[in-house]
Amino acid sequence: MIRFSIVGLMDMQKCYDHLVEILHPNGLGCPKCDRPVAQSKVHRRDRAPVLYYRCHCGCIYNAFAGTMWKHTRHSCSVIVRILQGFAQGIPTLHLARELGIDRKHLLERRHEIQALAAAACDRNPLPDQVVEVDEMYQNAGEKGILHPDPEDPPRRRANQARGHGTWDMDRPPILGIMGRESGRVQLIVKHNSARADLEPTVLDVTQPGCTINTDEWGAYNHLSEQQRRHVTVCHAPSRREWARDDDGDGIREVHTNTSEGFWTGLRNFLRPFRGVSKVYLQQYIAIHEWAHNLKEVTLGFLRILCGVTQMAS
Ligand SMILES: [Zn+2]
Repeated sequence: MIRFSIVGLMDMQKCYDHLVEILHPNGLGCPKCDRPVAQSKVHRRDRAPVLYYRCHCGCIYNAFAGTMWKHTRHSCSVIVRILQGFAQGIPTLHLARELGIDRKHLLERRHEIQALAAAACDRNPLPDQVVEVDEMYQNAGEKGILHPDPEDPPRRRANQARGHGTWDMDRPPILGIMGRESGRVQLIVKHNSARADLEPTVLDVTQPGCTINTDEWGAYNHLSEQQRRHVTVCHAPSRREWARDDDGDGIREVHTNTSEGFWTGLRNFLRPFRGVSKVYLQQYIAIHEWAHNLKEVTLGFLRILCGVTQMAS
């Protein structure tokens, strides 16, 4: 992709104002004594529009004080672009080149921000009376993790294992629970695809009495004993083969209507990252979950990404 940065064309004051709105739900103020900014004097203007204030209490601060961006040297438009890039799944190398910043530093920032997004995912039961449950298997090794044993280097080629993968074979299942009525999804990385791994999570995120559509995978066979109505999508014998993952690419040409398109979307989201470590897989798919459920970025989501816990009263 050709490099074409527009951060130099973005309105710096508007980016600053937006960041203040994100980072300070109750208004900018002194991080030490909480006095509002109106009771501070401007101390320095050389980094405008980021102003340094001196509070009555003697504290000198700016809008980034006490936030995850406190030590940043990035301009406000670069920070806004970073948030946009992470929320939209732009690969780190691509963003780093566009912005002329260090890739490793940006990757650390991405992991910090995505972890916040993952921790804030809604894990309350979906409100739906009809849900689809399915798993996808994602090749995910230990990219980016220092390997302690040089005699056992991490695999370099894609994992060729077929069918139901596991965490230990670097092909963990991603459990997807999708509400037919709400359109909401929850995505959870599991270690294995056995009943003991999948069923408790399915029960946690669905309502008693709801109908659960799954394929014929045996891990779901006991849902009907757990206050759920279990419907198995039975393929006609002639289509049985077609529904399997015989080519080993992880796409099981599926069974349930919603999940079919959804997994394609998730694969398309993950592909540009060219191999996500299984250790970070949950936080990458959390970004996709948020995007699917929100459709459009909100102030609340941007506050989650920036670790802002204090909410406007
Ligand atoms: Zn103060």
